[in-house]
Formats: sequence, structure tokens, C-alpha cells
Amino acid sequence: MEEVISNFHTHTYRCGHAEGDIADYVEQAEMEGCSALGFSDHVPLPLDSIDNWQNIRMESEEAFYYMAKISDAKRKAHFPIFSGFECEWSKRYENWYRDFILGEINADYLVFGPHWTEYEGEFIYAPEISNLRQLHSYIDTTIDGMNSGLFKFIAHPDIIMCSYAEWDTEISACLNEIIDCAISLDLPMEINGQGMLRPTRKTSNGVRFQYPFKEFWLLAQEKGAKIICNSDAHRPAHVLKQAREARKLAQSWGIEIQELEGFKRT
Ligand SMILES: [Zn+2]
Ligand SMILES: [Zn+2]
Repeated sequence: MEEVISNFHTHTYRCGHAEGDIADYVEQAEMEGCSALGFSDHVPLPLDSIDNWQNIRMESEEAFYYMAKISDAKRKAHFPIFSGFECEWSKRYENWYRDFILGEINADYLVFGPHWTEYEGEFIYAPEISNLRQLHSYIDTTIDGMNSGLFKFIAHPDIIMCSYAEWDTEISACLNEIIDCAISLDLPMEINGQGMLRPTRKTSNGVRFQYPFKEFWLLAQEKGAKIICNSDAHRPAHVLKQAREARKLAQSWGIEIQELEGFKRT
């Protein structure tokens, strides 16, 4: 039987911190026997929006070229390709995502990448959360984003474990909330292969990845969450490599993985 290896989390040079364009990722994926590929570069936001992370996203104009190149690749590749964007959640972006990105630009799907929370008028980056109030604000933002109904899956729902060394009752309660929400919405959660490339962390329980975080995924599986694996590729060589690494890791933890087929617009 042919291996099914898909990846729905892929960036391009447009975000300013990734290498390669659509065709480079498609070529690499084709070489490695890809079954389905989704592009999800960091979403552009309106010019007048409150955006603390401007340097990591394309401009709105570029989104049209990005989509055109994906359309081109869709015609040429021997496997299905999908056009998407990775988004932060804020209520103020809701109409933009729905009307412009899904409506006008006509993207196939949106990914929820929860990297930030707004706390007391400031943006706090998930890996830098330093107290419980910020943590709760982050969890609230994440739950709101999941509930928006705009996203097809949540990327690295365990990214908070970058900043949180030990598994304790507080973080366990917070992460349980994310898992329960995903289950109630039937929203797939992603084991992220890019996280495996980050420096590891020392904890009282030994050395671990910042994320994926084992305890989180064991709990998610036990509760019956839908779990997928993606690479979060920021360079063509990783397009399937990190998606495979994530699957291997999941397998070593006894986690059962679902394979997404793609996203049909309704
Ligand atoms: Zn990125
Ligand atoms: Zn990403």
C-alpha cells in the first residue's frame, strides 16, 4: 500500500522568515510522494489594523499572487493542493478573515495558529507568558478563536509549553480546556513537526521538546480528540520531512493519527 503523507501547514518566503516559493515546496513534496499539500502562510491583515507582528506576514496585495501561484501548482501537481492562511485570533479580524480572505481572495481554508494574547493593552507572545493571568488570557483567546468557526484545525495547541516548564494542575486545567473545546467542535489539533526543531527543554521529568508536549497529546488521545500531524515547513526540505517526524513521534507515544483529505469550500 502506498504511504499516505500529507501536510497542511506550509509557509513561503512571503512571510519574511521562510525560504522558497510555492513551486519549490511542490517540487520537493512531489519527489517525496506527497498525497496532499496545503499552503498556510501567515495571513495578511488590513493596513490600518492593530498588528504587532507585521514583519512576519505578507501584504494584502501579495496574497493575490500567492493564490495565483497556488492555482498554477494545483493544475500541475499530481496530488491535490489547497490554498490557506495561518491566522491569529482577534474578534476585530473576524470580518476580514471571512469577507476578504475566504470571500474575496477565495482561500480554501484557514488555520488557527494561536501565538499571542492581548493582556492589559499589550500583546503577549505565547512562548513568553510569565504569569497565571497572562496564561488565562491566552487560553481565553485560544478558546474564542477555536469557537469562531473560521478554522479547519488548530496548529500547535501545546505551544504554551514553550514557556511552561513543568506539568502541574494549573497548566493541566488550561490544556484540558483546549482539548475539551476541540472535541466539542470536532476541530482537529495538530502535532507540529517544526516544534521538534526548537532547542529542547530540561525539566524535572527529563529533557523534552518545547512542543509537541507528550502529556498533552496522551490526554487528547485519551479523551478522543481528532489528532493530525503537519510539518509547519519554513523551508522546502522540511515540507514532508517534519510531517513524517511528527508522525514518528506520535507513533512512539502510541497516538493515533487522522489523515485529512483536504478542504472543500461549502
Ligand atoms: Zn512562520
Ligand atoms: Zn506556521
